[in-house]
Amino acid sequence: MCGIVGYVGSREATPILLEGLKRLEYRGYDSAGIALLNGKNVSVVKQPGKVRELEKAIKVSPISATCGIAHTRWATHGSPNLPNAHPQMSTDGTIALVHNGIIENADALRVQLQKEGYLFVSETDTEVVVKLIDLLWMEDTLLEEAVAAALRQVEGAYGIAVVSSRDSNKIVAAQNGSPLLIGVGQEGEVLCGSNAAAVISLTREVVYLDDGDYAVLEPSGFRTYHLSGTEVARSVYQVTWDLESVEKGGYEHFMLKEIFEQPETLRNVMRGRLLEEEGDVRLGGIRDHAKELAEVRRIVMTACGTSWHAGLVGEYMLEEFARIPVNVEYASEFRYRHPVLEEGTLNLAISQSGETADTLAALKEAKQAGSDTMGVVNTVGSTIARHTDFGIYLHAGPEIGVASTKAFTSQLVALTLFTLYMGRRRQMSVLQGREVVAALQELPDLVEEVLQLNDEIRDLAQHFKDARNFLYLGRGYQFPVALEGALKLKEVSYIHAEGYPAAEMKHGPIALIDDDMPVVFLAPRDSVYTKVVSNIEEVKARQGRIIAVVSDNAPELKGKVDHMIRVPHTIPSLLSVLTTVPLQLLAYHMAVIRGANVDQPRNLAKSVTVE
Ligand code: GLU
Repeated sequence: MCGIVGYVGSREATPILLEGLKRLEYRGYDSAGIALLNGKNVSVVKQPGKVRELEKAIKVSPISATCGIAHTRWATHGSPNLPNAHPQMSTDGTIALVHNGIIENADALRVQLQKEGYLFVSETDTEVVVKLIDLLWMEDTLLEEAVAAALRQVEGAYGIAVVSSRDSNKIVAAQNGSPLLIGVGQEGEVLCGSNAAAVISLTREVVYLDDGDYAVLEPSGFRTYHLSGTEVARSVYQVTWDLESVEKGGYEHFMLKEIFEQPETLRNVMRGRLLEEEGDVRLGGIRDHAKELAEVRRIVMTACGTSWHAGLVGEYMLEEFARIPVNVEYASEFRYRHPVLEEGTLNLAISQSGETADTLAALKEAKQAGSDTMGVVNTVGSTIARHTDFGIYLHAGPEIGVASTKAFTSQLVALTLFTLYMGRRRQMSVLQGREVVAALQELPDLVEEVLQLNDEIRDLAQHFKDARNFLYLGRGYQFPVALEGALKLKEVSYIHAEGYPAAEMKHGPIALIDDDMPVVFLAPRDSVYTKVVSNIEEVKARQGRIIAVVSDNAPELKGKVDHMIRVPHTIPSLLSVLTTVPLQLLAYHMAVIRGANVDQPRNLAKSVTVE
């Protein structure tokens, strides 16, 4: 998920690797490290915190080397501390490995390796890979053979780079689900990186690996292989983008990049957690708390902004499938209004950054009242993650755009996983569980389909660019989506927007409707669809301009709405993910067309650490 850079050639590796790391800093990270091959030794320096801390540590005792790998870590497994920073090492210190991504079968491999006598010094999923390479490295064979043998046993997502003093002056790099590319340097040098930003200061010629590929990099050149061991040819591409667009992966803004990352981030939040046969989930972060969770009689969710909207979807799901009463509270209100927290109440704090001041304060309040506490958080080791008794991580990677997009849809899926957990231990049948698991499995592909609406939505934004107000209406699971759609529009395009439960409209906001008022209706085919159709009629009768987000042909709406955005169909609770994506795109394009600063909207901060 975070950054990798590697160099092998004839120049001093340290400055090149540090330069690469600095160019990866924009991705967000919590620790950094470097492994250098000098003669018969691997020297490793790592530091929690920023690359400049690492640089200072290296300056204390510089190491001359022409081959090395470096990493910026964004923790997914284990806190951002020194032992967990990468490179991770073999016990004898002869193999060093850096890794981006998540190893799904890390727990099983760790147990297997422990039986072989391996001791682990970190909490990372990464360490099992380097120990496995060590175990499988047969005498008189090459580093790449050991790496390939290990990767054949590894499940999950990885981009890795490995060096070893046992087979020195080479880097073995591999990719599966987490990108890794080769940078073709000058004569006698080769680089690798997790994206082009890492290598762009030395070369613009890159070779993208495919999933299931590994590569051997030596000063004389590189070779690419499939994991089976067959050599494969991969073409060289010329990077024509400037650094800024490389950082944004070719997208104009981080917000758009993050919207388009959602199929991948949704795969990540589910990775290794779904049990298809059992219609159930395996959640490492709550596994040891079955007893507390069995005793929960009520859940109070506390959150702010977008996370609060995710909480509302969670409330509907938990009440429907697990029959547990849920309240969703603005964290800032909760803490000052003397809430009643009776025994059996679980406080569930939702926060992308894990640092939101109000949510943290509410959490402390709940703790003081004796509640069990749980987090749904993106940033591993963040304050909320550390202060809750247990939780679920989103694994969405750093979110840089100030307006949250990918974290929101990952929150919805994380809360679906939690609902499955609670539901299956209460009254949800295995068949119901399987239905939800099946819907989750196809969700990333469906989001991929929704993203193909991008051009259509850009045209729509062009059409409505001069609107001064917007209304977003939805019912059931679509009500929180309406709130989120309105919030996104406000945040990035500065157009005033209100989200409302569709039926509540007639108790007030209907007075606002005239032929100047665009109204976005969330109208996928769910149990309240016909009711929403009636609400659409009410707006039409008052000349409102209607955009309907539907999940099939919606023949009932022909002639009644001005624009239709059609998303694929899935179970009602997960339709909330599919209908959110077009609203993110709409907000984005409106902002771009109106010339707003999409990634850093005025007055907003990414992580709100003040009350
Ligand atoms: N899963 C690994 C860890 O937590 C890699 C994280 C990353 O991609 O930076 O150490």
